Amino acid sequence: MSSPTLPTVPTATGADSAALFERAATVIPGGVNSPVRAFGSVGGTPVFMASAQGPYLVDVEGREYVDLICSWGPMILGHRHPAVLEAVTAALSAGTSFGTATEGEIALAEEIVARVAPVEKVRLVTSGTEATMSAIRLARGFTGRSKIVKFAGCYHGHVDALLAAAGSGLATFTLPDTPGVTGAQAADTLVLPYNDLAAVERVFAEQGSEIACVITEAAPGNMGAVPPLPGFNAGLKELCRRHGALFISDEVMTGFRADRAGWYGRDGVAADLFTYGKVMGGGFPAAAFGGRADVMAHLAPAGPVYQAGTLAGNPVATAAGLATLRHCTDEVYERLGTVSDTIGAEVSKALGAEGVPHSLQYSGTMFSVFFSERTVTDYDQVRATEAFRYRAFFHEMLRQGVYLPPSPFEAWFVSAAHDDRAVDRVVAALPRAAKAAARAVPPTA
Ligand code: PLP
Repeated sequence: MSSPTLPTVPTATGADSAALFERAATVIPGGVNSPVRAFGSVGGTPVFMASAQGPYLVDVEGREYVDLICSWGPMILGHRHPAVLEAVTAALSAGTSFGTATEGEIALAEEIVARVAPVEKVRLVTSGTEATMSAIRLARGFTGRSKIVKFAGCYHGHVDALLAAAGSGLATFTLPDTPGVTGAQAADTLVLPYNDLAAVERVFAEQGSEIACVITEAAPGNMGAVPPLPGFNAGLKELCRRHGALFISDEVMTGFRADRAGWYGRDGVAADLFTYGKVMGGGFPAAAFGGRADVMAHLAPAGPVYQAGTLAGNPVATAAGLATLRHCTDEVYERLGTVSDTIGAEVSKALGAEGVPHSLQYSGTMFSVFFSERTVTDYDQVRATEAFRYRAFFHEMLRQGVYLPPSPFEAWFVSAAHDDRAVDRVVAALPRAAKAAARAVPPTA
């Protein structure tokens, strides 16, 4: 493949992050366009990035960081992968948006269908939020039922009905998890503890005929990496089947990252509907939901359930996603496994050397560290960990040029571009960060 003529990578812009954050806060609420970017849970000033290449980010002041968030998942091949840039450049030169059907959309849908056997039909959308929101509407339209089951600690985007929290009296009533969501929007959402199949059984026994669907992260990364216990996803699927509800596997994070077929490629649990985003957009706003043909046939214009999008299947995003997926080869998945295993083991070694209790956990090739004596399996356990240690750990890594998620409850992401040099830089930074974590003291009340 010939190399496209690419713009050179800009490095330092001459600005400084603290000044930019101050300026941003005058016109953008909280100075950021997505809350985690503000460093609220680790403190300090967010770093403004200017460019990226391979496994590295470069900030506005010219400092380079090994990137361990990879744009929260999409950059699975690393930044500025030549094949993705070439596909994007070609798409751009043909026009950026038509608002009509295009061939690229078919190719991307075909690629997804070819990778995930239970996905027979796919609808492209522009964000993971839109994918889960639409999948839930479809499940309600298909079943004619109103209630949905979700799990505490699982995040599915900022869909009103999913920004709900369990009230006291398990699953008997639900409260909005943010101002702006009404009691009515939250009322049909049943929030259960993650990995607790018995709780799901109870709720189905009591309210099964009203439940449209169960939605779960296929392997959670949004409370940190808390994988499903063996049999959990299969148990959910079986309960749904028995009670005529749909099982929705949210693979926005794990899709095409945990395996070439996503988490489905690991556990083989055939959900009725799957949701995707991140990797399949190659760094552009593209996402999807798909699954059983008979269910998807209920979507407009084939069926009565309305769903639409001005930029759905955007040709540039579609080209980026398709190029990314086509380059996600077996070697890519092997490298992700090696890099995440190596970094995880070294994190554990460094913390162990300082006597810091911790649990290193994986959801496929995403991983995270919990400051806890034991493995954590649900959100209550996650919240009981010594999260205050992460703040010190994070800032010491950042100081040494490693960009971790600025929150103790987010997964770490690697790419196939993380070569030995990048991994070595992470490993070299760990002993000091582990010392900082060991010294950390809980905030005084
Ligand atoms: N579902 C999961 C599992 C996610 O991790 C996210 C975002 O992180 C979403 C849905 C929402 O995706 P988006 O941020 O593209 O709306």
